[in-house]
Amino acid sequence: MSLPEEKLLARAKKVKAVVLDVDGVLTDAGLVYGPRGEALKVFSARDGFAVKLAQSEGIRVAILSGRLAAPVKARLADLGIPSGLVIQGSRDKGADIGKIAGRLGISLDEIAYMGDDTPDLPALARVGLPACPADASEEARERAAFVASSPGGRGAVRELVRLLLRARGTWEQIMEAWAQGTAAGEFFKGSGKGAHDGK
Ligand SMILES: [Mg+2]
Repeated sequence: MSLPEEKLLARAKKVKAVVLDVDGVLTDAGLVYGPRGEALKVFSARDGFAVKLAQSEGIRVAILSGRLAAPVKARLADLGIPSGLVIQGSRDKGADIGKIAGRLGISLDEIAYMGDDTPDLPALARVGLPACPADASEEARERAAFVASSPGGRGAVRELVRLLLRARGTWEQIMEAWAQGTAAGEFFKGSGKGAHDGK
């Protein structure tokens, strides 16, 4: 159950890094199998843009997934998530969230973790801001301080980023800068001749 707004913002303000599960968080939990095994996953461009926005505001983004999948690697490269901040094939997310905190040099209190199912429960229990998508398992929702109103793969990650930047007091300003057309130049700087859409 989501915490009341005031408490939630206070916790969100302390967050320095977002750690995300993949299946059911960055995707809708669907696994599309072709004849040669698992082939494709659907990601949200809006979530992707939010990840980039978080990074540009100095929030580190890391990945903690129980599965191993090639398409995920391509997507994470697109999102600019360094391989040192990606753990795939995790069998113990409680221990591995601690490893990620160590790699980031921050405390678990300063992490927001979004997960959607049973294997995520130990990681959700350890972090300062446990979060989940609207369609997460009942047990994940019970333990989350923030339950997004969007489902996994369709805006839940964006909602979490929005919460963190609202807590820092920068969200409105950022949106206004985009609306005024003054933000894009800085944001896309260094991403090449307009080849990258930032999502
Ligand atoms: Mg999952």
